[in-house]
Amino acid sequence: MSKLAILGGVPVRTTDFPNRVSMGSEEKSAALRVLDSDVLSGFVGAAGKFFNGGKEVIDFENLWASTYGFKNAISVNSWTTGLQVAVGAVGIEPGDEVICPPYTMSASATAVLFYGGIPIFADLDPSRYTLDPLAVERCITPRTKAIMVVHLFGYPADMDAIMAIAKKHGLKVVEDAAQAPGVFYKGRPVGTIGDVGGFSLNFHKHIHTGEGGLIVTNSDEIALRCRLIRNHGENATEAYGVGDISNTIGSNYRFTELQAAIAIEQFKKLKGFLAHRTQLGQYLSTRLSSIHGLTVQNMESGSTHSYYMYPIRFDEAVIGISRNLFLRAVTAELPKPKYWDTTPLAEGYVKPLYLNPVYQKKIAIGKKGFPFNFNPGVTYEYPKGLCPVTEKLYEKELLVTPLVREGMNTDDIKDFADAIEKVIGNVQELKESNENDSHGKIFDPLKAIEDHVKK
Ligand SMILES: *Cc1c(COP(=O)(O)O)cnc(C)c1O
Repeated sequence: MSKLAILGGVPVRTTDFPNRVSMGSEEKSAALRVLDSDVLSGFVGAAGKFFNGGKEVIDFENLWASTYGFKNAISVNSWTTGLQVAVGAVGIEPGDEVICPPYTMSASATAVLFYGGIPIFADLDPSRYTLDPLAVERCITPRTKAIMVVHLFGYPADMDAIMAIAKKHGLKVVEDAAQAPGVFYKGRPVGTIGDVGGFSLNFHKHIHTGEGGLIVTNSDEIALRCRLIRNHGENATEAYGVGDISNTIGSNYRFTELQAAIAIEQFKKLKGFLAHRTQLGQYLSTRLSSIHGLTVQNMESGSTHSYYMYPIRFDEAVIGISRNLFLRAVTAELPKPKYWDTTPLAEGYVKPLYLNPVYQKKIAIGKKGFPFNFNPGVTYEYPKGLCPVTEKLYEKELLVTPLVREGMNTDDIKDFADAIEKVIGNVQELKESNENDSHGKIFDPLKAIEDHVKK
């Protein structure tokens, strides 16, 4: 075995990883077509022909909906706002409890707070990184109204079990499929297995329009409520004959014609992107699955993965060194991606959400503690240790790589797998070295993005 780069040896690779270039001539001509038309948004904030947007917006929504057999698609200006719209449309009210995973982008849970709902965090299944149905069941109270499911990293949550719980207790299910566009769960596309779901079109997602999102639902009633909230619904409830006007005060969450035209071209590339990532992901799984102490995600039949991130479970007891030292040794073998905001391998994902000040201080809307103090006689606590499986993933067990993506090819992934194998083959040498094996600082992807932007 050649000497590890962290100990002064020659790295596995020094040439940069290729960039992801997502915009092509198709997006450029689509954008120019809209600019030439001079209509950059087709929306009017009152009931009528343009309440649901202009031609490009409608075409984009219809294209995505018809491709996957979704009955309704509603574009929005981000998936963060899309989540808020979805939570409002399913009727979450002040004091309603919504069960959420703690390991996700913060918006999955804060969307609940926007309507005065209270996020209740249930622990994860450590093999899927999504809600553990048994943990969900333990969180149910007479106040529970919905479950927020997140298909984290692009692999679907255990929807059969979650839908069974929802049915048994009469709960709504919102699917945050931001990281899982075009993903299937046992043969069914994610997004409409629950009542309503959707996808993000932000810059970091598989396909993007800078910012943007798409809500999908097979319920016409929920779709109408989403469209109302998207576009000043208070002006339109009478015209659309809406009896229950609760939660229909709208905002301006509209997608522009320019974004929609670009989105149409991006969407046409989605299947190709997913096929490419699947090929790279499968190759990496084959390479890593033979390594004792690293666990790759097990895929059930009929389900697909979008590899927004490629997760690896790390077992310190088996490998013999801390996750942090392992990460530093692998990183030393590879170039730092020049074009993106990350390292080739990262520790954990976000901090478990309930450890953020909003839950620790229970200050969300105003200073008086609303909505956490809304239900008389009920106190909400978010102590450390609330979701032990998640905390262990965050602190010790989870590694993710963002390398499975467009622009990369099998040779690039081969270098990554070679770097991991090289470190595994030299663990003894690493243990005997003077390298500090204390637990290092945990990688914070949000901070990394900030640092990247500052540069
Ligand atoms: C990206 C993301 C969001 C937010 O989407 P935006 O379009 O950036 O607002 C929400 N949930 C998850 C899981 C995400 O990855």
